[in-house]
Amino acid sequence: MAPIHLSTTFERGADGSYPHGFIYTRNHNPNRNALEAALAALEGGAAAAAFGSGLAAVTAIFQGLQPGDHVVAPADIYHGTANVLKHLFAKWGIETSFVDMTQFDEVSRALRPATKIVWIETPSNPLLQCVDIAAVADLAHRAGARAIADNTFASPVLQQPFKLGCDMVMHSMTKYLGGRSDVLGGAVIGLEQDETFAQVRQAQLFGGGVPSPFDCWLVMRSLPTLAYRMQAHCANARKIAAYLHEHPKVSVVHYPGLPDNPYHTLAARQMSDFGGMLSFEVAGGKDAAMTVAGHVDLFTRATSLGGVESLIEHRASIEGPESKTPQGLLRVSVGLENADDLIDDLAQALERVGR
Ligand SMILES: *Cc1c(COP(=O)(O)O)cnc(C)c1O
Repeated sequence: MAPIHLSTTFERGADGSYPHGFIYTRNHNPNRNALEAALAALEGGAAAAAFGSGLAAVTAIFQGLQPGDHVVAPADIYHGTANVLKHLFAKWGIETSFVDMTQFDEVSRALRPATKIVWIETPSNPLLQCVDIAAVADLAHRAGARAIADNTFASPVLQQPFKLGCDMVMHSMTKYLGGRSDVLGGAVIGLEQDETFAQVRQAQLFGGGVPSPFDCWLVMRSLPTLAYRMQAHCANARKIAAYLHEHPKVSVVHYPGLPDNPYHTLAARQMSDFGGMLSFEVAGGKDAAMTVAGHVDLFTRATSLGGVESLIEHRASIEGPESKTPQGLLRVSVGLENADDLIDDLAQALERVGR
């Protein structure tokens, strides 16, 4: 296994050269270089830039824009990415139109000559809506914009946005890539080493939002099991979704793997499996949802996703007063525990509703 190169600085030769090939860890570090090469290979891109968090990666992408540029993004975009656009970049003169990206005419209407980025996030959070990546990337390109996909929920194992026409892919490595809820990180992968990717690299090197060598090492350690973890996340989620779908106290299950889900056909086309994330609405609204969340034992009540442990979360309360998420909705990150144990736990918690 690779050593962890904690050194921030690297010795110069007597002739002023850098015989180790490294100068200073903000610029380059063996652990970060190795991780970036692995991420580029996983997504099928030309190069990757790693960051200290998913939102640092998001921020670096938008730092490549100029005042007056325009962004089209999904209305149900990850709330942290919405914060970056609304609260960091709007005041620098970058405007964003948030649209329902499942409707192509809404995307078309939002595109302008100044549109530089069309942001795609699928499946979405927390309703697991799916966007037709190939169709939206095509609309973006016709308008002279770049299509960039946040591929965090699917992971490169289940969905490969470059094959569907995207120009860049972003990940929160904190989720499935890290896989153990013990490391924060982000990444941007470029299909080409083009001008757009060069801007991201510049934001990384000049802005300095890089991950530590240890964090890079932790993510690297998780990558060999990614494909197998994803298989198990998907298998468990499929069983839990099917169980909840039949439950009388559950009004709706949001999981593209269910045959009657409105995004099932699309997801089956652009994903190799349906993922480990699902949400469901408890009949009876917020109180009923809180009762379920309050009585689970095997699930942990916590935000985030993609770890080996199952998490459950009342989304509306973490999203705050601007949230449009239904009050009865619980989001689940299905972990790698025994599926029957997880189902038994949900069953006993749902029993408490209305008692
Ligand atoms: C978590 C997440 C992010 C942000 O990543 P951090 O590592 O938490 O900064 C961005 N997009 C999606 C879809 C996420 O789930």
